[in-house]
Amino acid sequence: DPRIAGISSAIRVIPNFPKPGIMFQDITTMLLDTKAFKDTIDLFVERYRDKNISVVAGVEARGKPNKLPGEVISEEYSLEYGTDKMEMHVGAVEAGERALVIDDLIATGGTLCAAVKLLERVGVNVVECACVIELLGLKGRERLGDRPLFVLVNAT
Ligand code: 5GP
Repeated sequence: DPRIAGISSAIRVIPNFPKPGIMFQDITTMLLDTKAFKDTIDLFVERYRDKNISVVAGVEARGKPNKLPGEVISEEYSLEYGTDKMEMHVGAVEAGERALVIDDLIATGGTLCAAVKLLERVGVNVVECACVIELLGLKGRERLGDRPLFVLVNAT
């Protein structure tokens, strides 16, 4: 799709963030580029508008625990060092719903996998996961198993 190149070039790469050796893919520059941002939204809308999606699920920044005031279910997942926990409100979604799970980027897949597990535990059918960027080489896609993953831009 001819729009992908514009999206890709609107993503800024910041070397050595948050620590030495990491090439951080910064999508905030893409969000500020009205054409690139619109194209990103349009590509997702075009793909999912006829797929009977009933809920679009996103991970709040890093999915930190203890932020939701109501009763939650939680899923632990592994980070580079140690583990973290992702939480979802009980009653946020209903069994049988058809979910699209979206994040800006997939690296190891741990974050998306935890989100998918939370939804599947309460009987939600995860139709697909979608990201703006896939970091290749970290095998995040494999971690998702059979669940389909759609990405717009590949990075290394
Ligand atoms: P994973 O769990 O797949 O290893 O890491 C993906 C999660 O970390 C996503 O929620 C994503 O927002 C964040 N993340 C990791 N690396 C980057 C990066 O280079 N750029 C951005 N924007 N997010 C990242």
